[in-house]
Amino acid sequence: MIIAIDGPAGAGKSTVCRILAERLRFVYLDTGAMYRALAWALLSNEAGLSGEEISGRLPRLSLDFLIKEGGLVITHEGKELTNEIRNMEIADEASRISQFESVRSYLLNWQRRLGEQGDIVAEGRDTTTVVFPQAELKVFLTADLNSRVERRRREYMLKGIDVSPGEMERRIRERDEADSKRALAPMRPAEDAIILDTSDLDISQVVESLVRMAKGLIARDGGQKTGDG
Ligand code: C5P
Repeated sequence: MIIAIDGPAGAGKSTVCRILAERLRFVYLDTGAMYRALAWALLSNEAGLSGEEISGRLPRLSLDFLIKEGGLVITHEGKELTNEIRNMEIADEASRISQFESVRSYLLNWQRRLGEQGDIVAEGRDTTTVVFPQAELKVFLTADLNSRVERRRREYMLKGIDVSPGEMERRIRERDEADSKRALAPMRPAEDAIILDTSDLDISQVVESLVRMAKGLIARDGGQKTGDG
């Protein structure tokens, strides 16, 4: 079974998807981390590469993506990438390179291959529309701009990074705009996606609601796929 969840920055996708996957004992596939890892690997050599330049470098990059213990492990030249891809500069660069065809098809290949490895919760901006249009459950998580700004600020605060509300709002607006206006795989809800506005919900309420949807489908299809509850 594939559950695909997308939506704009700060809607709570990552936290919710991680917990949802744990609850259902599904693999959590964070496709945003794949864009970030590629951005990081390219930036570690050179900044500001064009689509064509990136395309020439992709075959020589030693990035590897594998599923281990229910989650995605990303390595570059054998070294695992974790915190180094979780900052605003990498997020912006990931967003910049995500407009290039060569980048999207390179990662799409990986994502589809990883998606064959069992039941998954796939998270990321085109997972419902492009990567897994056949997903049994598609959800577009969203929230009003203020809630998203505050959530992202809290997230960064926990890492000791203080970003003003104005600056965070500017960054989120810019990233939403770039992600939804790009020509290739723009962020938008799939026609058959359920739109879930999380502005007034906390994480556990969102997770509960998704668990209910998933279990409803599993029960309907007669599967016994979740070990939860
Ligand atoms: O989700 P996250 O913030 O980690 O994603 C970083 C960037 O990667 C996004 O802003 C988006 O431009 C790009 N991305 C994408 N398609 C995905 C996941 C992420 O274009 N499936």
